[in-house]
Amino acid sequence: MNGLMMDWPLVIPQILRRAAQFFPEKAIVSRWGDGTRHRMTYADLEGRVHRLMNALRGLGIQPGDRVATCAWNHHRHLELYFAVPSLGAVLHTINFRLSHEQLRYIINHAQDRLIFVDRSVAGTLAALETDLPAVEKFIVMDDRGPEPAALPRSTMDYEELLAGASERAEFPPLREEMAAGLCYTSATTGDPKGVLYSHRSTFLHAMAGCMVDGGAMSEREVALPAVPMFHVNAWGMPYSCTMTGATQVFPGSGVIGQPLAELLEAERVTCAAGVPTIWTLLYQHLKEKRYDLSRLHTILVGGSAASRALMENYARDFGIRVLHAWGMTETSPIGTMSRLKRALEDSPEERQLEARLKQGIPVVGVEAKLLGEQGEDLPWDGEHVGELAVRGPWIASSYYNNPQAGAAFTADGWFRTGDMASIDRLGYVKLTDRKKDLIKRKGEWISSVDMENAVQGHPGVLEAAVVARPDEVCDEVAAVLVVTRDDPNHPVAAQEILDLLSRKFAKWQLPLPEDIHFVAALPKTGVGKIDKKVLRKMLAQPPAN
Ligand code: AMP
Repeated sequence: MNGLMMDWPLVIPQILRRAAQFFPEKAIVSRWGDGTRHRMTYADLEGRVHRLMNALRGLGIQPGDRVATCAWNHHRHLELYFAVPSLGAVLHTINFRLSHEQLRYIINHAQDRLIFVDRSVAGTLAALETDLPAVEKFIVMDDRGPEPAALPRSTMDYEELLAGASERAEFPPLREEMAAGLCYTSATTGDPKGVLYSHRSTFLHAMAGCMVDGGAMSEREVALPAVPMFHVNAWGMPYSCTMTGATQVFPGSGVIGQPLAELLEAERVTCAAGVPTIWTLLYQHLKEKRYDLSRLHTILVGGSAASRALMENYARDFGIRVLHAWGMTETSPIGTMSRLKRALEDSPEERQLEARLKQGIPVVGVEAKLLGEQGEDLPWDGEHVGELAVRGPWIASSYYNNPQAGAAFTADGWFRTGDMASIDRLGYVKLTDRKKDLIKRKGEWISSVDMENAVQGHPGVLEAAVVARPDEVCDEVAAVLVVTRDDPNHPVAAQEILDLLSRKFAKWQLPLPEDIHFVAALPKTGVGKIDKKVLRKMLAQPPAN
C-alpha cells in the first residue's frame, strides 16, 4: 500500500550515532582490576568503534562471522558491542565461568573466528586453545587484573590493534533482521543452547529498557550494570544507556561489597542492576560502613527472585527502591517488570509490597499466558499455577543451529519458559518455581521460592536455598540451607526457622529439623545464581559414616 511510513531499519549503529551526535561529552567510566578508573566520552566511543571496525575488517571479519568476547564490564567490551554488529558480524558474549567442557562446546558450536579476552581470564582459554580449531586469534585486553598463568599462543594486543587502524569506517548497509548477538544459556541439562539476537530485537528491547514503565533509562541517569556483559547483554543496558545518552559506569571484574559501594558513591550512580546476591552482600556492607548513596534511587533486580527482606531493607534503611524484573536468555531478557499500578497506589503498604515482590507485568511488546498440564490456558486469578509462556519481537523462536532442542517452542508461536507461575487479575506474574525446582512431596507441590523468601525473613539469615531431598516415603521433601550473618544480635537456630515457616506453610510442607542445614556459603553458578543442581546432588548423597 502506498503512503506508508518509511521502511527504516532498526539497527545497532543508529544507537551509537545518536549518542555521539547529541551527547558527545557524556561519560563512560570503567573500573579496572587494580581499582583505577578510566574515563571517556561518547565522542571517544564513536572514534574507537570506527577504528575497531576497520581493525576487524583487516582481520578478515565478514558479515555473519562470529566474534566472541570473554570479558568483564568495561569500555572495550562496549566498543565490541557496537563494532561487531555494525559490520554485520555477530557478537558472541561468552560466560567464561562455565566449565571447560561447556566452553569448548559453545566456542566450537558458535565457530567463533576471533576471541577478545580480558588478560585476567585469558588463562582459561590458554588451557583450551588446542581444542578450538575455528579460532584464528585471541585479542588480549589489559584489564589490570591478576596475571594469568598462561596466555594463548596466537595473541594480539587490543590497543595495538586499534592504534594500527584508520579512524573513519564505512558502515555497510544492514537489514534489521540480521543477526547481531549470540548468547548461550547456562543450561541446566544437556549442552548449552545458543540464542541469536537480531538488530531489530536488540533495538526494540533497548527501547523497552527506556520506557518509563519499563527500565526507565534516560539521559539523566548514571547507570551501573553489575550484571555481567556476558549475561544476556547485561540485560540490554549498554544499548539502552547509549540510546539515551545516560552516563555509564562499568564495574570491571565482578566487583562486590566494599569496592562496589565505593564506586556507587564516587560516581554518584543513580540506578544499578544485578542478581539479588550482589545486593544482599552490598547491604551487609552498607550496614557496617556509611556511604553517601543519596543519588541511588533504583536497583533493578532479576535473574533470581528478589526477597522481601531485600526490598524492605533497602527501602527502609536507604530509601532505595528495589525494582523486580523477570527474564531469560531466550527473552533478551526483559519480560516482566514489577512497577506499582496506579490501582494499587492507595492500597496498604503490605499489599503494595506483595505486588512489587511479584515478577511484574509483561512490558510492552511481550505477551504472556499460563499453560496447564495439557497445554490449556489457565485463568489469571492469582491462584492457578501453570507454565509461563511468552511471545514477542525479542523472544527467541528457536535455538541457534540446534533443531533438536525445539520442544520449548510451540507450534502456535509461543515460547514455553519452564518457569511455573500464577498471574493475578491485575496481570502481575508471580513465579513459584523453575519446573525442575518445585518440590513434589507425595504428589503435592511445595514452592522452593516461597519457602526461601520466608526463611530470608529471619534477621540473622544472609542467604537461603530450598531444594528437594529425595525421600523413600514421600518421594521428595524440602531441605533448607542457610547462611547466617554471623551477627551476635541475631543468632539463628533450626527451631526458629521451623517456627517461622510454620506460620506460612502447612504442616506437611515443613522440612524435618534434620533437613535444616547451616552452611558457610552456597554454591553459585557462573552468573551468580544459587546453583541448585549442586545442592540437590549434595543432598541426594547418603551421609558419610
Ligand atoms: P538465564 O537465562 O540464565 O538468565 O535464566 C533465566 C531464569 O532465571 C528464568 O527462567 C527464571 O527461572 C530465573 N529468573 C529470572 N528472573 C527471575 C526473577 N525475577 N525471579 C525468579 N526467577 C527468575
